[in-house]
Amino acid sequence: MISGLFRDDRSPGFAQKVNESSHQFNTWGLIFGAVLYDLYIFVDMTLVPEIIWLDLIVRLVVITPVLFLYFPIRHYALQARPDAVVHEVLHAIGCMVVVGSIMFIYANARTSSASEYYMGIVTVVLYMNTIHRQPFPVALLGTVGCMTVFIIGMDYVTVTSEVAKVPAIMCSIGISAVSLFAAYRIEKVERRDYLASLREKTLLQQIQTANHELQRISNTDQLTGIRNRRSFDDAVREISGSDRPRALILLDVDYFKNYNDSEGHVAGDDCLRRVAGRLRGTLRKEDGDRRFIARYGGEEFVVLLDDCVVAAAIRVAERLRLAVIDEAIAHPSRPDGRNVVTVSLGVAVSESSTEDIDETLRRADMALYEAKRRGRDRLVLDPGRKAAMAGPPELGCIEPRDSSSNGRDVGTEFDVGRSGI
Ligand code: GH3
Ligand code: MG
Ligand code: MG
Repeated sequence: MISGLFRDDRSPGFAQKVNESSHQFNTWGLIFGAVLYDLYIFVDMTLVPEIIWLDLIVRLVVITPVLFLYFPIRHYALQARPDAVVHEVLHAIGCMVVVGSIMFIYANARTSSASEYYMGIVTVVLYMNTIHRQPFPVALLGTVGCMTVFIIGMDYVTVTSEVAKVPAIMCSIGISAVSLFAAYRIEKVERRDYLASLREKTLLQQIQTANHELQRISNTDQLTGIRNRRSFDDAVREISGSDRPRALILLDVDYFKNYNDSEGHVAGDDCLRRVAGRLRGTLRKEDGDRRFIARYGGEEFVVLLDDCVVAAAIRVAERLRLAVIDEAIAHPSRPDGRNVVTVSLGVAVSESSTEDIDETLRRADMALYEAKRRGRDRLVLDPGRKAAMAGPPELGCIEPRDSSSNGRDVGTEFDVGRSGI
């Protein structure tokens, strides 16, 4: 039972925690103990008036200053090691010195009224084991030490009869044993609480780690390793309501069904992985902190550029288009004979803070449809309001080839491939 208190692989952590939590309490505990020790002078005035000067010198001049050495010792011990118990050992030795001083005064007493003087010893042990609360092994050693000093000191006492000494010693040992048992119980409960809180903390950390991992997995597309549609929806929800302009680019791999049919599904997966990796690598830091690419579904990807105006969105979209061509994935079964994997892009930029993201997405989708219709491997900007059609000249923007179709604008195609963006 007791061995559990002496051997615990978490002892350093426990000792540190006890040191931290009992620091202030022990300071006041020691001051209280020293004051109590000196207040016994009033008791001595009645019990041993004939040696009151000796009593004053022993208590006030010798022992009290020695007791206060505890503070500098504790300071340096804890600086060296936060889990130090050396200061507690010295505290126990301090208690033994106090017992020794009491026995010294007792042994010098000449009046028979001093026969109850030994009661002070019990007070010291009770203080050590309950108020000061040392680590149990130290409390045990301190108690044994105090009792030893007491029993040896009794030999020098003349005012108490030899017959009365035995019950006095036995009573003191009994009370000391009870206080030691109390110290043991308190420490056992403290250790159990400490281990429980440690377990709780570890469990909480594990849960947090698992939660992060779960969140990462649930936001990642399994095939390509980039973010998935769900993650995109979350990001959109986060920025909706802001009054910053935002751009959406929808990308779709051209003639991918033909690729799958001729190269096989496994090669198709590999192609998607390469395209996704290339797209992700092509988005740069300067494209904004909130740039975001996700697999939208199948062979479609979506790029969200928060706080992005038309010119920048077109520049990014064109860079993405060229990057896929640069990846040079052979596509031998293309009906148009280009023999390389390309993407078509639809771009839409929100123009007002009130525009719903679904509306921007719908316009990007229309632009993508238009890019496909016009022959693929190109980007088309949904005109939105007329203001959005004014692309910067350095981008090589051209006027819409079709300004309207079936009564609606169908987008501005940017023949930027030749502009060297
Ligand atoms: P378009 O140029 O008009 O986009 O033609 P497309 O063939 O790319 O488009 P379509 O919608 O006809 O075909 C898309 C194909 O993408 C069909 C489907 O088998 C394939 N696909 C979708 N998801 C995956 C996937 O995860 N892995 C593979 N290997 N193929 C996929
Ligand atoms: Mg598609
Ligand atoms: Mg496609």
